Amino acid sequence: MRTIGIIGGGQLGRMLAMAAARLNFRTIILEPQVDCPAAQVANGQIVAAYDDEAALRELADACDVITYEFENVPVGAAELLARTRPVCPPAKALQVSQDRVTEKQFLNGCGIETARFHAIDSQEQLEQALADFSGQGVLKTRRLGYDGKGQRVFKSGADDPAGAYAALGSVPLILESFVPFEREMSIIAARGNDGTIACYDPAENIHRQGILHTSTVPASVNEATTEVARRAATAILAALGYVGVIGVEFFVLADGKLVCNEIAPRVHNSGHWTEAACAVSQFEQHIRAITGLPLSDGARHSDCVMRNLIGDDIDDVPSWLAKPNTLVHLYGKTEARPGRKMGHVTWLK
Ligand code: AMP
Repeated sequence: MRTIGIIGGGQLGRMLAMAAARLNFRTIILEPQVDCPAAQVANGQIVAAYDDEAALRELADACDVITYEFENVPVGAAELLARTRPVCPPAKALQVSQDRVTEKQFLNGCGIETARFHAIDSQEQLEQALADFSGQGVLKTRRLGYDGKGQRVFKSGADDPAGAYAALGSVPLILESFVPFEREMSIIAARGNDGTIACYDPAENIHRQGILHTSTVPASVNEATTEVARRAATAILAALGYVGVIGVEFFVLADGKLVCNEIAPRVHNSGHWTEAACAVSQFEQHIRAITGLPLSDGARHSDCVMRNLIGDDIDDVPSWLAKPNTLVHLYGKTEARPGRKMGHVTWLK
């Protein structure tokens, strides 16, 4: 096995391509945007839409295995590729995670607790569902939401839901019960094609305006909570017959109980710390998994904090570079728009 196809050309694809190169693999990126972050460091790019059948065939012909760096890859594209090449993680992981209702049903079926929820297809259903949750809840689009986009929070019965269904685009929505969490955490785990599973330590995550701000490791949770997270990740990976790295996000309640928020069938922003604090990063772990190499056990040698550089934060790079024990990682994006992830830094403690 020599060449890995990566669907999606963002920073996650870029970091996967860099990890692949270190293990002597070539990478080809499928991405419509020319000179995308991943293509800058890969061996080739097919410039085409993710559902372009001729481009998908070209990718399959050129690669030995195909992976992806975002969860909104069309399921049909993954299925088409899977006819001739291994696609890791499997298309089922995309299908489950692309719709927040399907995702919660799947998690509940694995015995994993989530927020209570109602599927919403009209303003009337929204009002009924809000009444069921005493006027509190988080309204989200079922599909294509990320970084808190396409969401509205109802904090109390005083919040008027009038027009909310239309305001979110009159598309299928989900109303989740409001989870009174004390903190948020995630676990990055991997499964090899021989069924071996390895988990990294959980990270404690702080979001600002719906975007990940920092991940701190170790998280302030006890071993029992960590073990529940590991078991949940293991159950998800096994149920999907998964190969590769997954990110599983949780809310932590005051009593330490975990409520799963979502899964990401790919390397995850809250796992970027692994490149600085572990011998084997989540990116290399993913490459190892999908190429059938032995997995790392996920061991960590340092405590650390990862912070995203968002928009104008890129101007702070010189001062980050001057700090001791700090790794700066930039994504090759030229324009620093507000809310855009430009890079990240991880400092060891
Ligand atoms: P998501 O897009 O689902 O990752 O949500 C973005 C952020 O909104 C989460 O990281 C939480 O901080 C908050 N959030 C999402 N869903 C809920 C919920 N059901 N209850 C309370 N807070 C939530």
